[in-house]
Amino acid sequence: MASYKIALLDGDGIGPEIMREAIKILELIATRNDIEFELDHGAFGANAYFEHGHPFPDATKQLCDEADAILKGPIGLSHEESKKIPVDMQPERGALLPLRARYNTFANFRPVFLPKGLAHFSPLKPEIIGDGIDFIIIRELVGGLYFGKKETGINEHGKRYVSESLEYDEDQIARIAKVAFDTAQKRKRVLHNIHKSNVLKSSVLWNEVIGEVSQDYPEVEVKHILVDAAATYLCLNPGQFDVMVMENMFGDILSDQAGGILGSLGLMPSACVGPDKAYYEPAHGSAPDIAGQNIANPYAMIGSVAMMLEMSFNLEAEAKNVWHAMQSVFTQGYSTPDLSSPGVAVNMISTDSFGDLVAAELAKL
Ligand code: NAD
Repeated sequence: MASYKIALLDGDGIGPEIMREAIKILELIATRNDIEFELDHGAFGANAYFEHGHPFPDATKQLCDEADAILKGPIGLSHEESKKIPVDMQPERGALLPLRARYNTFANFRPVFLPKGLAHFSPLKPEIIGDGIDFIIIRELVGGLYFGKKETGINEHGKRYVSESLEYDEDQIARIAKVAFDTAQKRKRVLHNIHKSNVLKSSVLWNEVIGEVSQDYPEVEVKHILVDAAATYLCLNPGQFDVMVMENMFGDILSDQAGGILGSLGLMPSACVGPDKAYYEPAHGSAPDIAGQNIANPYAMIGSVAMMLEMSFNLEAEAKNVWHAMQSVFTQGYSTPDLSSPGVAVNMISTDSFGDLVAAELAKL
């Protein structure tokens, strides 16, 4: 019997609630495939800081080191609550970026999918959605502004100042470019390169390297779009996109916008892949405004499980089954409250009911 260790980092806010639903799915997959998933929870995020004095405690590092894959819930506190934690210990700086750095998870895959039949979830008009939304954002995840040198102090005029650098070298760009071209080659062979080369020198180098890597992929057509224009096209014509590649901060912002055009951040799963290890997480945050109410949408968390099944455990057919089960719960008219809007007939259900329905649908496949 195959046996895999999965580190579960429940996280903060809605994290534990949506993690419970992910576990239901993992247990079902294990039983019917004669696989053992050894599931161990590790403290991570603000809760870890309060209970263990660090947002990424050593015990969690060890758990992750020993795991075959990591499933992570969202972390973070509300703006006001965050002030209770010293700046460098706050969850993103103290836990999330170190997790990404530890496993060099440079390739972030963020699928953005809404079939035509669920167009009512989206704030966009049906004629804009057309046949549905189906593209993937490939985001560089361990470079750029988020990982560059940082400095704060008092300048020669006696004013507080801050300086943060956006750094990339050509190898960092080339490796994410290859991931993007490989992905485009398996899909529609069109790659949208998102940049800001009219202002940023980092984008000039980025585009040069994209051009060099493209020589190895003559079948893939590259289209270059400025990041600000891309934000507009996501609203006006998302159907033009199939694979989008971009640097770290652009990807952070545009993928939340992508969640917006789907109708909820709760529809944005992701995979963060490094040379030796991957972790999987919903792209959204800990949603402190709805935490503890059993109303969070677990789709992105369960979708992250589907990505794990495919990318870490080669269970491609089961991954497809999980996607299919979630879509069929939606098409039966059920959803969590984030996806219901005035005038739309949706059977509003709780987080755990959604997980139960997905598990029931999955069991039929
Ligand atoms: P957020 O993504 O938590 O929430 C934004 C809005 O989307 C809220 O209205 C929330 O209720 C809703 N939402 C998000 N996920 C949902 C879900 N699964 N179901 C239903 N509704 C959902 O963003 P925020 O409020 O800006 O940030 C809250 C905290 O999360 C902050 O501390 C932030 O730093 C952190 N954060 C963490 C991650 C991560 O762990 N990777 C990512 C983004 C933000």
